[in-house]
Order: sequence, then structure tokens, then C-alpha cells
Amino acid sequence: METMKLSTYISEADIQKKVKDLGQTLSQKLKGRDVVAICVLKGSFVFFSDLIRSMDMDLQVEFFGVSSYQGTTSSGEVKVTLDLTHPIEGKDVILVEDIVDTGLTMNYLKNALLSRMPRSLTTVALLEKPEALKVPCELDYVGFKIPNDFVVGYGLDYQGHYRNLPYIAQVQNFN
Ligand code: 5GP
Repeated sequence: METMKLSTYISEADIQKKVKDLGQTLSQKLKGRDVVAICVLKGSFVFFSDLIRSMDMDLQVEFFGVSSYQGTTSSGEVKVTLDLTHPIEGKDVILVEDIVDTGLTMNYLKNALLSRMPRSLTTVALLEKPEALKVPCELDYVGFKIPNDFVVGYGLDYQGHYRNLPYIAQVQNFN
């Protein structure tokens, strides 16, 4: 892939501070409960691993793979690529998403998980683009609300690249 120009959108320091705050808030809410944190693959894996390590409590983790995106616009179709390995019935579930754009993926995930009868479901997204929502999508916790820009880094990709950037960036030129 041709090298693209990246500009910092949210700095590593700002992300780390926000993730620590979210982790503390979640710990206060759920400490002592039977918690399963679900990482939505692939984009959430970096946020997820920082978030659970900032939580001062024991919990279990699960991975849920969905693919809903082609290029830089949402296809609106959600395909499950990896299912949970254990039941979540009766558990306090934290659903961890990287970014909510149209809201279609988050709504799909919420319905899919609620049908498995968890005791509670708490939704967390690092980023939300309120102007891009196509369906109403209520979130319990959001790291940063951003304009309708395409961003990469900290787990988010462009054509499979840039996931390992420790900050969120905007790609200047798409080809
Ligand atoms: P939605 O269903 O809300 O439209 O899209 C959610 C998924 O689209 C996210 O989990 C993410 O994978 C992808 N997505 C949405 N906006 C962006 C973006 O700005 N950058 C990247 N890299 N992926 C995005």
C-alpha cells in the first residue's frame, strides 16, 4: 500500500487518560459482579486490552468477531466471523466497541447479546460519530464524540493497515 499522510486526531496521552477514567467508572459500577467483557474484533482489540487492564476487578473475557465495513463507508451488513465460546446467561456483560458510526453494528450486537439473557449489558465505545447515525443507538459510555471523519489507529484500520498506531489519526489521502 502506498504510504499515506497521517495527522494526529486524538493523542496517545488523551486516549490513555480517557481509558483509565472509563476503566475506573466501570469497576465502580460492576465490582463484585460476575463480569464478562466482550471484545468486538477486530477493531476493539487495542482499546479492549487497555480498558480491562485499567479495571480494578476480576473479570472474564470473550471475543466476538463481526465484519461490517468495506473501504470507508459502512455496507450496513453485519456478518458474524467468530462467536462467543461460553454462554453469557446471568452474567454482567460489558460490550466493548471501537467506534459507532451508523449504529447498525452496535444495534445488531446489542440484540444478539440480549437474546442470550445476560443479567445486564453495559455498552462502551471509544469513539462515536453522532452525525453519522442511521438508527438510534444508545450507549452507556463513550470515550470521544467525533465529527463524521474516517479515522485510523489504536485498533482501527484502513485496508488492514494502521491498527498498531498508539494514537488515533486521520488519513489525508485515499487513493
Ligand atoms: P457502524 O455499523 O456503526 O456503521 O460501523 C461500525 C464499524 O465500522 C466499526 O466497528 C468499525 O469497524 C467501522 N468504522 C466506522 N467508522 C470508522 C472509521 O472512521 N474508521 C475505521 N477504521 N473504521 C470505522
